[in-house]
Amino acid sequence: MNEQPTTGSAPAARLGDGTLAVRAGLPAPVKNEPTLPGPAFAAHFHLPGDVEGPYTYGRDTNPTWTLLEQAIGELEAPGQDAHTVVFASGMAAVSAVLLSQARHGDTVVLPDDGYQALPLLREQMEAYGIHVRTAPTADEAQLTVLDGARLLWIETPSNPGLDVCDVRRLVDAAHAGGTLVAVDNTLATPLGQRPLDLGADFSVASGTKGLTGHGDLLLGYVVCRDAELAALVRRWRKIVGAIPGPMEAWLAHRSLATIQLRAQRQWANALALAEALTGRTEVTGLRYPGLATDPSHKTAARQMRGFGSVVSFTLPDRAHAERFMSALHLVEDATSFGSVRSTAERRGRWGGDAVPEGFIRFSAGAEDTEDLIADVLRALESAGSGS
Ligand SMILES: *Cc1c(COP(=O)(O)O)cnc(C)c1O
Repeated sequence: MNEQPTTGSAPAARLGDGTLAVRAGLPAPVKNEPTLPGPAFAAHFHLPGDVEGPYTYGRDTNPTWTLLEQAIGELEAPGQDAHTVVFASGMAAVSAVLLSQARHGDTVVLPDDGYQALPLLREQMEAYGIHVRTAPTADEAQLTVLDGARLLWIETPSNPGLDVCDVRRLVDAAHAGGTLVAVDNTLATPLGQRPLDLGADFSVASGTKGLTGHGDLLLGYVVCRDAELAALVRRWRKIVGAIPGPMEAWLAHRSLATIQLRAQRQWANALALAEALTGRTEVTGLRYPGLATDPSHKTAARQMRGFGSVVSFTLPDRAHAERFMSALHLVEDATSFGSVRSTAERRGRWGGDAVPEGFIRFSAGAEDTEDLIADVLRALESAGSGS
């Protein structure tokens, strides 16, 4: 496991997700101490004499991270030896894997429909002499550009297009050629999908989204089984200093206890929304991997245990989409996703994704299903009447 102190968690593999979530990363009970110790606000720790860990300087280690890393590791890889490294944001975690693994002259394969900051990272890698190839997520198209690559980056389901690829199939082909595989697990969360179980070398995610679910903090993490790969990622964090604050780390850990409750409601709401949108004449391009009719469904059903909170669809044009957005009462017009409060946005306003002007990315929250669906249907009616 980690070189960090062990915790008092129960044998994880036999427990259900809810049990796992409420107990994840808790230290062994100590009389008169709280269940989850509060954030350790410390730039440095008492360090008389020789330099000995675990806690020396706050950019390297912090006991609040230790517990959170333990918790995330238990959710991503229950019952297994895994190494988890938390970061200040999802992009800090993504960059740490790509930039700590790829060297000048190496080739990296990215999806061409992934998170909108990946093209920025691509430019940066190319400036460092790393070759970058891209292919779409759907139909495992990345298989065609794998040859000789150092690292394959997978994002499934992809954000915002919600395409899904067969992780196991890509991993088998990549490993056969000596290529490492990282999966961006942000959209699914560890409750929806466990990339390490599908053979990936790294599971990487933004904890800003569904993992923590309250839209009040930024966080990222990397989980991997190999100690040497983990050491490179941890070294990168030390060099770049993209560390989460103790308060954010503690809030994230506190939020993890409810991840199953949040996910169950949010995923059910997303499915109900997708079903309510099915067959509406003004809606095209409806995507939700949990819909039996979705092009992603077959692969998603094989490798995912839940299909996430994000639904995407397209309204006839920009003005129609803007009328829809402003007619919503229970849904906040905001970016990001995975919050207990529903959010949606006209994605084209950012200019970064190849989406139609009327494209809506909708993140279902934990509202009562009837209330949420009624609000969306009323807003669609209102947008359709042009008012
Ligand atoms: C949001 C997001 C990221 C980046 O996470 P931040 O916490 O915003 O840095 C990376 N990948 C995916 C799929 C995301 O949705």
